[in-house]
Amino acid sequence: MIQFQYERASTAKAAISSLAGSSQAKFIAGGTNLIDLMKRQVEAPARLVDINAVPLKDIQRKDGKTSIGALALNSQVADSKLIIDNHPLLSQALNAGASAQIRNMATVGGNMMQRTRCPYFYDTALPCNKREPGSGCGALKGLNRMHAIFGTSEQCIAVHPSDMCIALVALDATVVVAGPKGERRIPFEEFHRLPGTQPEKDNTLQSNELIMSVEIPDYAFNKHAYYMKIRDRASYAFALVSVAAALDMDGKVIREARLAMGGVAHKPWRLKEAEKALAGKPATEETFRQAAELAMQGAKAFKYNAFKLKLGPNVIVEALKNAAGLV
Ligand SMILES: Cc1cc2nc3c(=O)[nH]c(=O)nc-3n(C[C@H](O)[C@H](O)[C@H](O)COP(=O)(O)OP(=O)(O)OC[C@H]3O[C@@H](n4cnc5c(N)ncnc54)[C@H](O)[C@@H]3O)c2cc1C
Ligand code: SF4
Repeated sequence: MIQFQYERASTAKAAISSLAGSSQAKFIAGGTNLIDLMKRQVEAPARLVDINAVPLKDIQRKDGKTSIGALALNSQVADSKLIIDNHPLLSQALNAGASAQIRNMATVGGNMMQRTRCPYFYDTALPCNKREPGSGCGALKGLNRMHAIFGTSEQCIAVHPSDMCIALVALDATVVVAGPKGERRIPFEEFHRLPGTQPEKDNTLQSNELIMSVEIPDYAFNKHAYYMKIRDRASYAFALVSVAAALDMDGKVIREARLAMGGVAHKPWRLKEAEKALAGKPATEETFRQAAELAMQGAKAFKYNAFKLKLGPNVIVEALKNAAGLV
């Protein structure tokens, strides 16, 4: 049995100072990922700091942006009228994730921090550089059907599992975090990282920082947004490939586009070249197909995930067709 201490913090300041000085302490929010990892002995924090009493649940609009507290529940955000009206892409992405029961426990901050679902990472009998740096990567030559096709390294080819984060990167969100030295803001695209030579690091949050909120700027993509997720089962499964697509349309012409993919990289994968290629073009299947081909440049498959090279562009096209109202 793993021994650990448990304490509750009721303010952000108390939570941050509870973590200071201990590399073995961790925040716990909904517990839907951390408890699983502890049960499997993938993670063994010596101290858990429960942050559920910290007042970070509000969803509000202020100064031309929407602010979502880090402890807002995934279901609360998905069902919020404010989010459905202003950021439907986010609501759709959240509803595509997990099950209703898990969405009722899972928080926004926890969702961003959830760890990869690579099976080698969860099995402590198998090598995994993310779990145990230097031990090797079981997936590289093993069962890598779920794994990445962009931004991989010799050390790790895992994918980031969140649906919510794919919408947030497409929406140019900013993460507000606080630590012992005060607050800082991280563009969503820079929050998660590629594996490189340090796959054990999933993101750029410091170990003593607390995620306070996520902010989404106002934008003109509300009417034409679509999140498409392809998975092995209709529900309760992680994405093989997902696409968040949002268009700002002037009649049938695309003024601007936002595109991101999930299930393909160690981080939410923004498709900026494809976005540029869509701007100013008519919303047709041909335009979408060209953008999708551009988006897939540089993709590299492994033994069991070559299907993602074909599936990826098809999902991009379908998501864009849905966003544009062509379906
Ligand atoms: C069966 C199953 C299916 C799932 N399917 C999907 C899916 O399809 N799509 C999807 O996106 N997700 C899916 N999930 C994942 C689920 O959404 C995450 O487990 C959940 O969002 C994590 O949130 P939590 O609040 O429970 O985090 P916790 O488990 O409490 O914490 C996770 C990590 O986040 C850290 N943390 C939490 N809050 C903060 C904060 N404010 N600041 C800093 N660090 C923090 C913790 O220290 C911990 O390291 C699934 C989970 C399960 C169990
Ligand atoms: S892909 Fe990454 S998480 Fe999976 S076994 Fe390799 S190092 Fe571990």
